[in-house]
Amino acid sequence: MLLKVCHLYPDLLNLYGDRGNVMAFVRRCRWRGIGVEVVAVDLGDEVDFREMDFLFLGGGSDREQGLMARDLVRRRECLREAIEDGLVVLAICGGYQLLGRYYRSADGRTIPGLDLLDFYTEAGASRLIGNVAVEVVIEGERVKVTGFENHAGRTYLGRIAPFGRVLAGHGNNGRDGTEGARYKNVFCSYLHGPLLPKNPRLTDHLISLALRRRGLPAELTPLDDGLEAAASEVMLRRLLGPGKA
Ligand code: GLN
Repeated sequence: MLLKVCHLYPDLLNLYGDRGNVMAFVRRCRWRGIGVEVVAVDLGDEVDFREMDFLFLGGGSDREQGLMARDLVRRRECLREAIEDGLVVLAICGGYQLLGRYYRSADGRTIPGLDLLDFYTEAGASRLIGNVAVEVVIEGERVKVTGFENHAGRTYLGRIAPFGRVLAGHGNNGRDGTEGARYKNVFCSYLHGPLLPKNPRLTDHLISLALRRRGLPAELTPLDDGLEAAASEVMLRRLLGPGKA
């Protein structure tokens, strides 16, 4: 079995170690004997998302978002079909914003998004920065996820579920307690960190979803996540107080 991972714009979109998300997905597959191939796709490259099993789109500054938005537009239909077909997608911060309707930067410039998901983003006067704890439901179970956010954009969701509920930090807009967005097998979040190395339960969920979509057994061999669990506990204690991890 071989899973195909597409890393979209690896050089443009790689804030705060976002590429670690691809590394975590790949490593946790290979440690279990699941073969993975990573395809890096840059501006102008051709790719058929329907053939992929996991698509990763990282964060980037407003300037980088402008550059990639133009290239992304021509890929819209192919990506829409793949998403409807259950492609597993993780989009972080700047990548997240461009799957929605638009991103309006602080200087009033509007970068049109792909309008694949029902939300929009407008930059505020201040940046929302810091460590975040979010409660996410994974296969019916409440899981606390941690990460780091740094964005000017305030995202407002329309008819789409959030990725999770903010326990500490700002999340989508600092007001409504939502963090990220979720549709079918698409997971969007403001959480850098990077997100997947810090939250192995989420990583394994994405791997299982990708395997299930291919009709492969999605039961994963447990790995030793002792270090990740200890790191998460320290952060949750810091953010939520003792006894809340
Ligand atoms: N330019 C966007 C913002 O500040 C995205 C930043 C990011 O990806 N960290 O909201």
